[in-house]
Amino acid sequence: MHQSEQDHALVLESRTVLPTDHGVFTTCAYTFGNVTHVAMLMGDPAQAEAPIVRMHSECLTGDTLGSHRCDCGDQLEAALQAIAAEGTGILLYLRGHEGRGIGLAAKLRAYALQDDGMDTVDANRALGLPDDARDYTAAAEMLRHLGIPTVRLLSSNPAKAEALTSLGITVADRVVLPVLDRPENSHYLQTKRRRMRHDPLAGRVSVQEDTFPVYRTLAEHPEIVAQLAQSADGFIAARGGDAEFVSGEADRTHLHRLRAAVDAVVVGATTVTRDDPQLTVRAV
Ligand SMILES: [Zn+2]
Repeated sequence: MHQSEQDHALVLESRTVLPTDHGVFTTCAYTFGNVTHVAMLMGDPAQAEAPIVRMHSECLTGDTLGSHRCDCGDQLEAALQAIAAEGTGILLYLRGHEGRGIGLAAKLRAYALQDDGMDTVDANRALGLPDDARDYTAAAEMLRHLGIPTVRLLSSNPAKAEALTSLGITVADRVVLPVLDRPENSHYLQTKRRRMRHDPLAGRVSVQEDTFPVYRTLAEHPEIVAQLAQSADGFIAARGGDAEFVSGEADRTHLHRLRAAVDAVVVGATTVTRDDPQLTVRAV
């Protein structure tokens, strides 16, 4: 179908401010070809020689619902963290990119085929759909409008860098975010490495290891560590002795990382009789 030039003109709809867990972002809504995308800017990236840029493909299940079938949510989080750490950068949230551009319904149909043993590439093909249908023209147009001719791209997918380059944006470097596989998405990510040229996992450092060198220090030096879970208002358990809700998922991960780094774990006798804890390393 012929589309007029107007359909393919980038329109800046609005510019506002979004306070987030990772800091305050200037947020621009851009419409291109009837799809509205979002550009999140921190600092003044146009002043940087080659600001870090993440072109993030919309993924309702991964980004919003916390699905572990893909790594989109982890990548999104790591990208925002990286931009906040650098103090400047851009996240382009590209809508209409569900399931590498095949749409949400087709992505979930492809998931069902993967449940029966197909990999992500074969599932798309079985549905008569392309391996990757994404178009990055809108992203390149947004970068041009924002005055960004050169970027350092946050991505483990060389195809994204090639697409941007072909659209006239210089990719000075491609930076792989420190996102590790999860048991539920490892096969999917390995398929992307094997069949879609994604970068290997080797050499990636977990954000937590990097942020908290304490785990490495513990593994190398003899130390005694005291670990206590305490609620924000100072309690270590509910009246009935139940401590399950005192800490959260992040605390549990931290606890298991500590256990992984030490030679022995000492707990009180009452903990043993009441909780009968396994004291093994399971979460990491
Ligand atoms: Zn995803």
